[in-house]
Amino acid sequence: MSPPLVIDLRSDTVTLPSDAMRKAMAEAQLGDDVLDGDPTTKRLESRLAELLGHEAALFFPTGTQANQAALSLHSVLGTEVVVEAGSHLLNHEQAAAAAFWGVHLREVDTSDGILTAELVRGKIRDGTADFPLTAAISIENTHSAAGGKVTDLVTMRGLRDLADANGIALHIDGARLWNAAIALGEPPHRLAQCGTTVMVSFSKGLGCPAGSCLVGSKDLLQRAVRVRRSLGGGMRQSGVLAAACFYSLDHNMDSMRDDHDKAQVVAEILADHPRMTVVKPDTNIVMMDLSDRPARDLEGLLAEAGVRVSVYGPRRLRFVTHLGVSHSEVSHAAETIVGVAA
Ligand SMILES: *Cc1c(COP(=O)(O)O)cnc(C)c1O
Repeated sequence: MSPPLVIDLRSDTVTLPSDAMRKAMAEAQLGDDVLDGDPTTKRLESRLAELLGHEAALFFPTGTQANQAALSLHSVLGTEVVVEAGSHLLNHEQAAAAAFWGVHLREVDTSDGILTAELVRGKIRDGTADFPLTAAISIENTHSAAGGKVTDLVTMRGLRDLADANGIALHIDGARLWNAAIALGEPPHRLAQCGTTVMVSFSKGLGCPAGSCLVGSKDLLQRAVRVRRSLGGGMRQSGVLAAACFYSLDHNMDSMRDDHDKAQVVAEILADHPRMTVVKPDTNIVMMDLSDRPARDLEGLLAEAGVRVSVYGPRRLRFVTHLGVSHSEVSHAAETIVGVAA
């Protein structure tokens, strides 16, 4: 008897490497990346720098580590960085900004996860009198906790100009920058060029087991090598992972467009049902609010029915589409949600 089908919509991180991706990993040319460089990792870094329109790129095991390295590059002890209140940096990185760099994250509340120059302008402080100095602004595109919300190019350029006018850095947490680029119909470098540094992930929509890159200027990235080492991110034959990332750029980029279509299907099936309100998705993340019961209850019932989802608030559930679920599985999952919720 085959095991019961489980449709896992908790995150786009749950994908497993395909046979072809594993083959690319198995055949990767390798070296010691801490000693004299791993050739596959170097190849990936060159490709990323070019793809995102920056001078240099550095491979990291995780996005969290790359974000933290970026904070370290842009700040000094006792300064602050402006972030959105629901951001990954503020909520999902174990207060590392404070613990490692002595940096205060100054949060800006928004209704939709989108920081704009108008919202941020009044938050920048110049260190006069008793105010702390603002070292950087960090934005998240797409914004995960807001439901994969996209910041458009005009807004990003406005933030770039604001950062320039104040002589501070703009970091882009682009764990899902690929999704933003696809949703906007822009090549990724147009978005990435707005950032002083940009972090992108391979372990989300691109379907790799691990890996992120940080891009920026040569000078910054040279310093980042030392910061990465201090965080324990100096990997040896990292080309095993970089090969998967390289493969995913060639083969999995287009599937993200499909992920967005699948999210629309989920939203359409869930729309117009009493007791549930769906937030229309920009990309591959669908948020749903329940009016009549705790989200935790429905999550448990859905798990029993073979559909895994995430709880994102007392009444909020999150569904994420990815290349590990087909259109028909996604439709089936949404019908199951409707049936169980009824
Ligand atoms: C997943 C994610 C990260 C961190 O990536 P890890 O590889 O899990 O450390 C950072 N920012 C955002 C917005 C994310 O979604």
